[in-house]
Amino acid sequence: MPIARIALDIPLPTLFDYTVGEGMEISVGQRVLVPFGKRQMVGVVMELIAESEMAAERIKPLTSVLQDSAPLSAELLGLLNFCADYYHHPIGPTVLSALPTRLRSDKPLTVRLPEWYGLSEAGSTPDPLVVPKRKVVQHRILDMLTQQSCSLDQIKRLSSTAGGQLKALLEAGYVVRCEPVRAAHSLVNAHTLTDEQQVAVQAVTRQKGFGCFLLHGITGSGKTEVYVHLMHHVLQQGAQVLLLVPEINLTPQLEHYFRSRFPDAELVSLHSGLGEGERMHNWLQAQSGAAQIILGTRLSVFAELPKLALIIVDEEHDSSFKQQDGLRYSARDVAIFRASQRGISIVLGSATPSLESYHNAQSGRYHLLKLSGRAQAAARLPSVRCLNINQTTMHHGISENLLREIAQRIARKEQSLLFINRRGYSPVLMCTSCGWLSGCKHCAGKLVLHLSDKRLRCHHCGYQIRVPHACPSCGNADLQAVGSGTQRIESVLQEHFPEARILRVDRDSTRNKRAWQTMREQIHANEVDVLVGTQMLAKGHDFPELTLVGVLNPDSALYSADFRASEKLFAQLAQVSGRAGRSAKAGEVIIQTAFPDHPLFRALREHDYETWAQTLLIEREMAGFPPFVFQVLLRAEGRQEGEVYAFLQRAHAEAKALAHTVEVYGVVAAAMPKRANHFRAQLLVQGDTRKILQTFVRAWRPSLDAIPAQRLRWSLDIDPMDF
Ligand code: ADP
Ligand code: ZN
Ligand code: ZN
Repeated sequence: MPIARIALDIPLPTLFDYTVGEGMEISVGQRVLVPFGKRQMVGVVMELIAESEMAAERIKPLTSVLQDSAPLSAELLGLLNFCADYYHHPIGPTVLSALPTRLRSDKPLTVRLPEWYGLSEAGSTPDPLVVPKRKVVQHRILDMLTQQSCSLDQIKRLSSTAGGQLKALLEAGYVVRCEPVRAAHSLVNAHTLTDEQQVAVQAVTRQKGFGCFLLHGITGSGKTEVYVHLMHHVLQQGAQVLLLVPEINLTPQLEHYFRSRFPDAELVSLHSGLGEGERMHNWLQAQSGAAQIILGTRLSVFAELPKLALIIVDEEHDSSFKQQDGLRYSARDVAIFRASQRGISIVLGSATPSLESYHNAQSGRYHLLKLSGRAQAAARLPSVRCLNINQTTMHHGISENLLREIAQRIARKEQSLLFINRRGYSPVLMCTSCGWLSGCKHCAGKLVLHLSDKRLRCHHCGYQIRVPHACPSCGNADLQAVGSGTQRIESVLQEHFPEARILRVDRDSTRNKRAWQTMREQIHANEVDVLVGTQMLAKGHDFPELTLVGVLNPDSALYSADFRASEKLFAQLAQVSGRAGRSAKAGEVIIQTAFPDHPLFRALREHDYETWAQTLLIEREMAGFPPFVFQVLLRAEGRQEGEVYAFLQRAHAEAKALAHTVEVYGVVAAAMPKRANHFRAQLLVQGDTRKILQTFVRAWRPSLDAIPAQRLRWSLDIDPMDF
């Protein structure tokens, strides 16, 4: 009897063996139901072998093969094996977490595969008695199908009654189900490409086999237009393209945008904002090959894409491509591996590439493609200047000069955006008498004052309390809010500009999905004068009336312990600056800082990513940081501080005993040393190459598993992004 080796969602680095019953049809990649302990679990067949290493009497038979979905491809299983191995995560949870929720259960799939329809012979001359003129929708469906066959989704988009009308046409025999067939795809509103865009498009389309391209172009330089032309090329080959984007809140907009450019292509999106059923439907569309454009956030890098010919990663530097728990993968890096595995091109696009990618482009491992100017002749780069906060009068976090500039914009009916990286009213509440600060009792962080509901709230663990009337420590009634968050800035602005329409955009004000959509519409309709927002507003939005961007408190990132903080700050400020003056109106950016001469701000003023990146790369090389070395971070947390440190000290000793080729740092507290009553600490190891590091981790791992740690949680983070 053959043995099936199954991946199960069990946190052990192994597959589980089961016997396959007589006559059971089974193949690698199929989902199966197996007994595990007292339960029945869904797993995936990874291998079929003749004999198991386990004693025959200990192997149980598998319960059934789930035939309602096609087996996972060898290619996808290969990708998942690679991830489990590279990120040192157990294979079972790796495989299962890559599947849509519905496929992780044994409930029969109710989602139907995409249906396609075309005209029957009779359908080209329908009987006017059967389809009279007044049946407008039926006529529109017939017209549409005269041109080419269409999917059910496309037909349903015609009208809310299209589904029913289609059924009538099917019954009349004018329409039949068919295979997906496509005419040549049209690209709407294609611009004549600039020379630089042309070079970029040609370089990618002429590439044979695997190639990684870094498309570096400032915001507004026409990167999206390059993507569109590349996608068109893929569509004409009848293949699939995967476009990875960082944020969920951008996907509906992008989806709408790409649909408008490719009205007759099948586009699906894959992100966690979708309902389970919709996500399953879209995933199956991708798996069947019917979906041609797949627009998704990081998890979509694991979608089945049998005809995949190109991957594009937009805003490749964005840290949200990195998953921060479970399988801690970087979707960008996995995408690069996927492209090389398949022998296709991948394009990484950004105005501010990650130093990793930029370094690879400079060393020739990636091909560098540059767009150096804004694509529209009229759109100029915004002018950027710094305001020294030590030489100006400040009004609760906003300088007088900035207030004056805002007033001018309001008078001209233009929009301003104040960018601040902290939601809430103000970060802490302080007692003016004894110096008490509103700390969280479960975390090392501070409770943030939220005035709207008069609460102090921890942004790390969610703990909240009512604002105390007096100092809990000394009883003094004079408690003051220190520092500024979005809510406080909003109220300062309201006081200053009572007539102005002020809109706050942060995670609190957009908790409800519709809210953000409505806000965007308001901004576009110019029903807002001043926007106050966190980084949610920095990304990708195109607000034509926005001419002033004020950056309120960027300085803390300049001297942060995180060595990536200034790289991230530059990217963020470049991005938020890019919001100003997208159309013909000139944009201006004002940065409030105590350090106007800092090289970061100089580079921003001069729109000079290159010099800045070069400066950082030199620093990183001297300090021995990525991208010149590769890192693994061992994190541990638990309720007993002593246990956490004891575990890490053992791990440290094991590493030291093993390692001659890597650098093992000391055990240190995490940046957030206590969160939700758990103490957190970590241990960093560096190697000069990925290979050296991987060899080390492979040897280290078994000794970690052997350290008793029942009351701890620990994890390995390969290529960690935050510390
Ligand atoms: P990015 O993605 O780099 O921010 P976009 O592709 O969105 O830039 O382009 C910015 C603006 O310039 C858009 O309005 C776009 O329609 C326009 N645009 C892009 N390429 C061209 C071109 N070759 N000629 C004229 N306009 C262009
Ligand atoms: Zn006090
Ligand atoms: Zn807390």
